[in-house]
Amino acid sequence: MRSRWHEALGLVLPVGCAGCGAPGEAVCRLCRGACRPAPHAIALPGDAGTAWAGLAYDGVPARVLRALKQSGRTGVARALAPALAAALEAASDGGPVWAVPVPQRPESARRRGFRVAELLLGAAGVCPRRALRWRRAVDDQRGLGRDAREENLAGALVADGSCAGRVVLVDDVLTSGATLAEAVRAARHARLTVVGVAALAATPARVPARAAGGGPREEIHAERKEIDG
Ligand SMILES: [Zn+2]
Repeated sequence: MRSRWHEALGLVLPVGCAGCGAPGEAVCRLCRGACRPAPHAIALPGDAGTAWAGLAYDGVPARVLRALKQSGRTGVARALAPALAAALEAASDGGPVWAVPVPQRPESARRRGFRVAELLLGAAGVCPRRALRWRRAVDDQRGLGRDAREENLAGALVADGSCAGRVVLVDDVLTSGATLAEAVRAARHARLTVVGVAALAATPARVPARAAGGGPREEIHAERKEIDG
């Protein structure tokens, strides 16, 4: 409801750039520049492997993504799409894969009227494949520590085994990595081949993946690009 109200307001009131508030476009040229892809690898908890994030969730990119998630400004998705596309490419191995989004909890999807990861995938020209669903209710992850997050999510997702084949799992923001690790577990349990894991953005101050082979791709992207608001 709230997002539709905001959207309706946006038709009559100039809302300005989602990154800096400058009047004009949904995301101004400078802020689009701050959302340029900066893919980097992040180790997921346990044996879930490595995820690739397209941006640091900080400064301008964080404000633009919050405008999408909290204010329903779906028009900003185009500015974020290249970073998600870059994360998907880094997470893939060149072969055909399904992009499987981590499902939003039903109450979030109802409140917004759209699914964030699917909207971003669509803006990146990728058709999402809904092969994961929540099997049970989980608590809000915010405010929980890392261990509590993993416990909260253990066994909470289930994958559709009929989606045979190779998948890249996709989420919008990677925080502790617990949700994506649970998605990996569920997908493997359903005998899907998890080729990789991609997120639009990852919260900073995470330890970059070091143990995942240390290939050339990782060296290229090892230097985190700090994006200042
Ligand atoms: Zn701006």
